[in-house]
Amino acid sequence: MTRTAVVGAGIVGLAAAHALRARGADVTLYESGPPGGGQSAGQGRIFRHAHEDPRLVALVARSRALWREWEEEFGVELISSDGAVAIGDGVEDKLRTLEPFAEVPVRRLPPEELHDRLPLLADWTGPAMLDVDGGAIRTLDAVAALTHRLEGSMLREHVLSVRRTGAREVEVRTGTTCETYDHVVLCAGRGTAPLARGAGLDLPVEVGAHLRLTFTVSSGGSASSGPASGGPGPGTGRGLPTFQDGSGAFGETGVYAAPYPDGRHYSVGLSADTPAHPDGGLADPAALAALADRTVAYVERALPGLDPRPVDHVHCWVTRLPWGDDGVGVWSEDGLTALAGHNLFKQAPALGEALAETVLTGTVPGHLHHEERLGRSAG
Ligand SMILES: Cc1cc2nc3c(=O)[nH]c(=O)nc-3n(C[C@H](O)[C@H](O)[C@H](O)COP(=O)(O)OP(=O)(O)OC[C@H]3O[C@@H](n4cnc5c(N)ncnc54)[C@H](O)[C@@H]3O)c2cc1C
Repeated sequence: MTRTAVVGAGIVGLAAAHALRARGADVTLYESGPPGGGQSAGQGRIFRHAHEDPRLVALVARSRALWREWEEEFGVELISSDGAVAIGDGVEDKLRTLEPFAEVPVRRLPPEELHDRLPLLADWTGPAMLDVDGGAIRTLDAVAALTHRLEGSMLREHVLSVRRTGAREVEVRTGTTCETYDHVVLCAGRGTAPLARGAGLDLPVEVGAHLRLTFTVSSGGSASSGPASGGPGPGTGRGLPTFQDGSGAFGETGVYAAPYPDGRHYSVGLSADTPAHPDGGLADPAALAALADRTVAYVERALPGLDPRPVDHVHCWVTRLPWGDDGVGVWSEDGLTALAGHNLFKQAPALGEALAETVLTGTVPGHLHHEERLGRSAG
């Protein structure tokens, strides 16, 4: 049996440990804080299929199927059934990229239907689309279900160092333990690059701080819909979809938003973060307050169905690869594997599967090897 350590119990490490256990590996999962307390923190993420790189669309489509398997296995809804809406000039490009994927139902949304599904939104008659199988990821439920399943394999320790000590032998040192494994997988989010560097793997990860605010849905802002998965009101039982705005019409491009499961809260973020110094400190701490002001101003202009006074904040470090906002890559050598990227929540089941395959076969599957620059931006 392959003795494996996974470092980090965010959504990716949890998914990797789960996939490894399902394939018969002996797994120890190291986590220094609460599982899901890093970049995976907070309620709600968007599941969307549209990505510039068609190879990433294929990975995400595989992930959608695995999310369904998790829903069956854990007996809980993990992605809302209300779809993912996008507006702006980029809609036609997205639809073109998705066209070859018969398993991904998408369509244009006429203004009346857009308003019906997303009454929060100010008047918009430009391009709009619906990703039917997209939706809001129930992040807290996903982390809780996986954590519960893996509780017996979890070691609540901070990993200080990882290094190769021989053929198929990698040492992991924590505050109070020292163990060796056949294979170690680093899924430590912001902690991955420093640990990998100590073991001779150089990952070009850029670190920044990100902000997302949550707002209350005003009466009239809910979908024409019922209470089912999020969205009070009479009608069809439909809740609010997730939302991406690339239009620039409301003063920001690259806005994303997702409903909470209660249907009464909607979280909104700008695709912008503020960089960190090499020592880990924020280059400009005031930038987070400025991002908050911009987010509130956007909500006032674009989403009149929300009360513009934020009720909740998520502040979080994010890690990006230089080849794109959705870039993801795996580095793997002699018993040590490390994964890095951004916007990974939706892909977690497929990444977990791929990391397990890497450990058990010695080969990074699909297009995930970092040299393939998966998720690269076209521009
Ligand atoms: C506000 C926000 C909105 C987002 N929106 C989306 C979205 O809509 N769709 C989407 O798909 N993605 C989205 N993302 C990105 C997504 O959430 C992350 O890419 C994903 O959660 C990363 O998971 P991870 O497991 O790789 O990292 P993390 O969740 O950061 O997990 C790493 C874990 O490793 C632990 N750790 C670190 N160092 C050590 C160590 N030395 N020893 C032991 N443990 C260690 C940490 O405590 C942490 O729990 C968003 C992120 C944020 C912050």
